[in-house]
Amino acid sequence: MIQLNIDNSFTRSLPADPDTTNKVRQVRNAAYSFVNPMHFSKPELIHVSPEAATLIGLTSADIKSSYFLEIFSGQRIYPNTKPYAMAYAGHQFGNWAGQLGDGRAINLFETLHEGRRIATQLKGAGSTPYSRHADGLAVLRSSIREHLCSEAMHHLGVPTTRSLSVIKTGDQVIRDMFYDGHPAPEPGAVVCRLSPTFLRFGNFEFFAANGDEKNLRKLLEYTIREFYPSIDSTSKSSGLDFFREICRKTIALIIEWQRVGFVHGVMNTDNMSAIGLTIDYGPYGWIDNYDEDWTPNTTDAELRRYRFGRQDSVALWNLYQLANALHTIIGHADALRDILDEAEKLIPIGYYSMMIKKLGLRDLDEESIDLVDRVRKLLQQHETDMTIFFRKLSTLDISAFQPDKTGITSWMGEAFYSSPDNNSAVLTDWEKWFVDYIARLKRENIPVHQRHLDMKSVNPKYVLRNYMAQMAIDAAYKGDYTLVDELYEMLRKPYEDQPEYDRWFVRRPDWARTKAGCSMLSCSS
Ligand code: AMP
Ligand code: MG
Repeated sequence: MIQLNIDNSFTRSLPADPDTTNKVRQVRNAAYSFVNPMHFSKPELIHVSPEAATLIGLTSADIKSSYFLEIFSGQRIYPNTKPYAMAYAGHQFGNWAGQLGDGRAINLFETLHEGRRIATQLKGAGSTPYSRHADGLAVLRSSIREHLCSEAMHHLGVPTTRSLSVIKTGDQVIRDMFYDGHPAPEPGAVVCRLSPTFLRFGNFEFFAANGDEKNLRKLLEYTIREFYPSIDSTSKSSGLDFFREICRKTIALIIEWQRVGFVHGVMNTDNMSAIGLTIDYGPYGWIDNYDEDWTPNTTDAELRRYRFGRQDSVALWNLYQLANALHTIIGHADALRDILDEAEKLIPIGYYSMMIKKLGLRDLDEESIDLVDRVRKLLQQHETDMTIFFRKLSTLDISAFQPDKTGITSWMGEAFYSSPDNNSAVLTDWEKWFVDYIARLKRENIPVHQRHLDMKSVNPKYVLRNYMAQMAIDAAYKGDYTLVDELYEMLRKPYEDQPEYDRWFVRRPDWARTKAGCSMLSCSS
């Protein structure tokens, strides 16, 4: 048997729903409901992240044992544990959506390993009281996407939940992938996610909306005690201190997304982590050509509420909703508003500090901010690949580079999606930008070697572009998982040159421009 150090702190600290049936219902006065994962025909291991496994103390022998497959597909309940689904609510696309909850997530247990508490959660292991009209299942394609992207984000240094494994269930799941009235069977899968906690803004909103102040207090105390050790959970200001910290963490997270070109796609308050992690990988996407207006989510295609360039202001809107929920027990409306005002000010400071680092600059001032704003505009004006541009810039040799039209067109060749006309205004503007940028670099006078190292550490060479994940998925649907392995391996070291993977350091291929799964994704998963 696999040895885990079980620690059920969440279920110990918060009340359970007394109803233990699986009936879909509105839950009151409880933070979760006990549930059982469903039975699957033939679980098959598709991929394990050995690094994630170490978080809960699993050895390589554990991963290979038959217990691993049984436990992490939900087919065997670990001794002295009781799986549960959490109750939460939320605002979806700007509207109050009422009770949501873990409709297809089942928490297995929490472990305490090397002083770290980790919750283990299956996604796609069957229905729960929170499943509403849906089936509680997940398909292989979205499971591969969640698994690869969680681990890739971790290695990029972006706060995220982790993914231990993807297991194919052996059963089919019916999905209408394009929401166009053509439902079809697809292979089902279960992802096992790991995180210190899966609590979201929505867990707080749930109790606040139901007027359950007693449990909202308990939840707040639990969250602070377990996940905000720097705050004294018994002090009078602990609620405000928590809110200040979650504001800081959330904004820092969004700036990290902007740094690497990640678009979450569904920033509803039920998908906002209470500890500032990226959580719930659905119709997310990565920026190929730099476009602040882009979102991969077809459900959001019209309003583009969750587009790349708007993620910071949406985060702030979500924090307002959390403030409203907390206000019901902590009061202090003015203090909460002040914290939100402070948070709003953190956005431009954090954003420009991050962006000047991407440019290899150190001093934040009017000139460096202007260089950032101009480059954003230029990147967007004539289709330019974000990852390739910043990575190439990271090793720019300013003594050899000719910032004229010919020099720029040839140097930018790999990053431009098409060659601009030689007389185009955009080339003239690029020329001016490079002249000013190089002059500024010379003035800052950071040793070349150091600048290159610094820039390479914030400008990844490899990210999980949508078409890459889709290629891995297409192969997996034919029973070939080698691309899942290859991408996983490559994305473990996104900042290293790894020339053996150079074939992935290219612009999105033309065939992927409009292909489903590559340029757009529905919420169907
Ligand atoms: P999402 O947009 O994926 O974050 O999901 C929003 C809500 O819908 C959450 O409460 C999910 O648990 C629930 N949900 C999504 N897909 C399913 C499904 N296949 N079965 C049951 N609940 C689901
Ligand atoms: Mg969700």
